[in-house]
Amino acid sequence: MSHIPRKRFGQNFLTDQGVIQTIIRAINPQPGDTMVEIGPGLGALTDPLLKILPHLHVVEIDRDIIARLENNYPKTKLTIHAGDVLKFDFSSLGERIRVIGNLPYNISTPILFHLSEYVGNIIDMHFMLQKEVVERMVAAPSTPEYGRLSVMLQYRYAMELQFIVPPDAFQPAPKVESAIVRMIPYAELPHPAKDEALFGAIVTAAFGQRRKVLRNTLKAYLDADGFAALGIDPGLRAENLGVAEFVAIANYCKV
Ligand code: SAM
Repeated sequence: MSHIPRKRFGQNFLTDQGVIQTIIRAINPQPGDTMVEIGPGLGALTDPLLKILPHLHVVEIDRDIIARLENNYPKTKLTIHAGDVLKFDFSSLGERIRVIGNLPYNISTPILFHLSEYVGNIIDMHFMLQKEVVERMVAAPSTPEYGRLSVMLQYRYAMELQFIVPPDAFQPAPKVESAIVRMIPYAELPHPAKDEALFGAIVTAAFGQRRKVLRNTLKAYLDADGFAALGIDPGLRAENLGVAEFVAIANYCKV
C-alpha cells in the first residue's frame, strides 16, 4: 500500500538508511526507556527503535498513516496516540520520558513551545528540524541567528546541534537542509526567573523590534534608573543580551 505524502502534514519521509542509523545512534535508546515519537509516518525511525525497545508511544495525526501503523505493529509494542501533537498531554506518559521525532517543519516551533510545558517530565529530546531553525535555537548572543527562540529555549535546555542532514535523505526531498538537535532540560535552571510569563513578555518585547535599542523596546519595563541598577547599557539591542541578562531584567521588574 503506497502513501501519497501530504504537504499540509509536513510529510517528508526519511529514506537514507545511513542517516537513519546515525540518528538512532545519537538517540541511543535503551530497553527500559519510556520513549515517544512525534510523527512516526511510514516508520523510518519507528522500525529501528522497536528493534531495541520493547515498547514505543507515537503521536500521529494522519488517519491513513494511523491505519497503516495499526496494521503493521501489535498493540503490545506500539501505543498510537491519534491526534494533534499540539494538544497532546505528554505528562500522561509518566515522569521520565524521552521524546524524539522527525518533526513536521510547518509546526516545529509551536511543538517546541508546547513541549516546554512538560519539561519536568522529560529526560531528553532528539529532533530533526530545518537546519536554519536549529541554528537559531543554539545561537550565541550578538549573532544574526540569535533571537526570541534562542533565549526562550536556552533558558530551559542545554542544546547541541548533532549533525546536518541533506535534502536527498528524504522522500520527497524538502527544499532546505535539516539538522538533528539534542535538547536536555536543566535539572536546575542556571538563571531562574521569578515570573516566567513576565520573562517571556520581556523577551518578546525586546525582540519585537530587534533593530531598536532596549531604551525604546523595554520602556514599559525599565527606566534609566532600572538600566543603571542592572548595569545594562540602554543603547544595546535585544540580540546583545544573554539569557542571564533577560532574567535579571525580569527579576528586577518583579517586585
Ligand atoms: N518519522 C517519519 C520519517 O522520519 O520518515 C515521518 C516524518 S514527517 C517529517 C512528519 C510526521 O508528522 C508525519 O507522519 C505527519 O503525518 C506527522 N504530523 C504532522 N502534523 C502533525 C501533528 N499536528 N500532530 C501529530 N503528527 C503530525
